[in-house]
Amino acid sequence: KEPLLEIKNLQKHFVVKGGLFGRKNLQTVKAVDDVSFKVYQGETFGIVGESGCGKSTTGRLLLKLLEPTSGEVLFEGKDIAHLSQKEMRLLRKDLQIVFQDPFASLNPRMKVFEIIEEPLINFGYSDKKERSEIVHEIASKVGLSANQLKRFPHEFSGGQRQRIGIARALVTKPKIIIADEPVSALDVSIQSQVLNLLKDLQKEFGLTYVFISHDLSVVKHFCDRIGVMYLGKVVEIADRENLYTEALHPYAKALLSAVPSPHPSKKKERIILSGDVPSPSNPPSGCTFHPRCPYKMDICSTIKPELREVRPNRYVSCHLYNEVPDSGVTYE
Ligand code: SF4
Ligand code: MG
Repeated sequence: KEPLLEIKNLQKHFVVKGGLFGRKNLQTVKAVDDVSFKVYQGETFGIVGESGCGKSTTGRLLLKLLEPTSGEVLFEGKDIAHLSQKEMRLLRKDLQIVFQDPFASLNPRMKVFEIIEEPLINFGYSDKKERSEIVHEIASKVGLSANQLKRFPHEFSGGQRQRIGIARALVTKPKIIIADEPVSALDVSIQSQVLNLLKDLQKEFGLTYVFISHDLSVVKHFCDRIGVMYLGKVVEIADRENLYTEALHPYAKALLSAVPSPHPSKKKERIILSGDVPSPSNPPSGCTFHPRCPYKMDICSTIKPELREVRPNRYVSCHLYNEVPDSGVTYE
């Protein structure tokens, strides 16, 4: 099966001024460091990790809201990472984003109708009547009434504002939606309503989602496959069930140990990691997780582990699963 979206060796480096010495002390931060994964039509691919691990940057690279330093973003087999902005414009309606904070992303001076209509105008829907019909249809799909379309964003609750953000993303009938922490700003009771809405819309429109979240219990209910990120790298990719039952990468194990097991009989031990996440401007050598890893071996501080398929559909970057060199199938 061909992936709808394939990310190959994606890198995003930022140059920042470090310390007190200004320009003399420019540092390169590898926010996204050699990330590869595939997303298939109709699935929800989760990207999880702690804040600062590079998941939001990855999401923006997928949409070309940021230019990658290197690597490829293949959408339907075509590399969009290096398209001009003009060429990208044509593709933009197929790839949309829902942001964490629907209030910050909605223009306060525009009525809800205009907010949802705007992408249609941008993509050249010139027939006003047709636009109005599409807006009303999408609005009703997300649970907004015709009356509500005449109001301004500030008149709505957080959950309703996220419905507006979702309607705006959906109005161009995209193939894929990148959702960056779409429910993190909402009350827990509202979260499930918005997640259910996203699920219903996915079924109805055959949507593919990339779902970025730090919230492992949300991801557990929402995603089909999941990539775990640490310090700008993907350390494990697995089906939801496999990951939550038994994560293989030591960092993923520790992260997931905080979530109750789906099988209460298989009680997981909570793993508390020592130390903080190191600075991405000065990451540790070899496996960047080695200073905190309970399974660390000699090789770990010198040789960088590659992401490899260590079991069917299971990708892990860790020397623990590399005992026989080159016995595994590499991700490529
Ligand atoms: Fe731990 Fe080594 Fe695996 Fe890194 S490569 S996660 S340090 S065992
Ligand atoms: Mg973020």
